[in-house]
Amino acid sequence: MHDVLIVGGGPAGLHAATCLARRGWAVAVCEEHSAIGEPVHCTGILATEAFSRFALPTTAILADQRATRFHSPAGYALSYQTDAPEAVLIDRRGFDRSLADQARASGARILLDARVTQVQRTPASVVLSTTQGEVSGKLVILATGAAYHLHRSLGLPLPTQFIQTAQAEADFPWSTEIELYFGTTVAPGAFAWVVPFRDNTGQRKARIGLMATKEAEHAFARFVRSAPVAARMGASQMVRLRRRPIPLVPLARTFATRTLVVGDAAGLTKPTTGGGIFYSLLSAELAVATAQQALVREDYSEELLASYEREWKARCGNELRLGRWFRRYAERLTDSQIDEAFQLATAPAVDRLIREQAAFNSHGGLILALARSPQVRNFLVRFVFTSGTSYLHQLVRRPAPKVSARLPMDTDEDRTFSLAS
Ligand SMILES: Cc1cc2nc3c(=O)[nH]c(=O)nc-3n(C[C@H](O)[C@H](O)[C@H](O)COP(=O)(O)OP(=O)(O)OC[C@H]3O[C@@H](n4cnc5c(N)ncnc54)[C@H](O)[C@@H]3O)c2cc1C
Repeated sequence: MHDVLIVGGGPAGLHAATCLARRGWAVAVCEEHSAIGEPVHCTGILATEAFSRFALPTTAILADQRATRFHSPAGYALSYQTDAPEAVLIDRRGFDRSLADQARASGARILLDARVTQVQRTPASVVLSTTQGEVSGKLVILATGAAYHLHRSLGLPLPTQFIQTAQAEADFPWSTEIELYFGTTVAPGAFAWVVPFRDNTGQRKARIGLMATKEAEHAFARFVRSAPVAARMGASQMVRLRRRPIPLVPLARTFATRTLVVGDAAGLTKPTTGGGIFYSLLSAELAVATAQQALVREDYSEELLASYEREWKARCGNELRLGRWFRRYAERLTDSQIDEAFQLATAPAVDRLIREQAAFNSHGGLILALARSPQVRNFLVRFVFTSGTSYLHQLVRRPAPKVSARLPMDTDEDRTFSLAS
């Protein structure tokens, strides 16, 4: 019998496997795909601090990211550049594979083509039914990403809010600047991006995509055919489009008897950008610390495992709350309000505040500083009153949306998309 079984071979599951195996525990990771790192959904922008914080392999880093250009609906543009790179672009396939190599080298077993279809907990063990047969252990860590098939049978809640994404990789002229586009038509409730890079063979490409609260695929089709993007892409190019939901709210409970939930499976992503690799790694480490206590004491009760949730809430609960609060404002802005926000950002006091407080990996400090700035407060108050007083109520207490019977993972798919059609 293994000590810990991990469902899902993404960053959360693989990092947890490495940390546990290094502590001498017998670990098995079950991954449904035949290769680690496939298929790639992610853009791959990760805070530089993650590499030292989690002792990550650096082989999959493609480029430093220092410059970002923000575009408003009416065409205002703002550029920000950092002296030192706060983020890097990674080859996500290579990154996951290097995490898998690290896990194997530490002694973890990785079972491929092993989709977990059922988790059964007995008083003495956890048994996973997989497409490769049964595996048993003392504790299970769910690291399934934005896939929630197993949650209900374990009595776990689901995230209550998701955002849809659509992304493709295409040949594209080289640039060192990330481009972000805002607007209710471009990307309703969020933003679109162009992230140029050179792949491992030196070919010039870009990851082009968007997050949207509705109709992400239609918005994506409009975006790649829009002037700023289409002009730089060959019109006959076929691109492989991938759609994927991102959870924006953590589960109401991220543990159960003999069970811990980490990464996207726990709904742990940045509500502002949807970025989740850092929180996947962080939650994996916190889950490992709790798993260690459980294994040493041979106590897999909810009482003991609850300490994992207390820990992640202590580390990032405030940051996540501030991010959600900001998102509630931002996703309701009209195009003219977004344009106004861009102009506001050029006011000397606000510009200084942004340059002093903005940090790639943590947005809470900037959100709080902006909320305290008289100019921004004035803008927010006007926004609330022009949006109607019912909005004020929603800002204070937003009713939890009902999760529909059709779970968002049903929309996880990829297909070929022609720019010409
Ligand atoms: C378009 C897009 C762009 C993104 N860009 C960024 C970015 O730039 N930076 C960033 O930080 N984050 C980004 N993210 C989010 C990031 O991809 C996730 O937060 C991160 O991958 C979560 O890691 P994870 O290990 O929790 O889950 P995943 O990486 O999703 O891994 C979960 C694994 O579990 C496997 N699995 C699922 N169910 C089962 C099962 N029943 N049995 C066996 N295996 C199973 C899956 O096949 C998968 O391999 C982006 C997401 C999207 C959709």
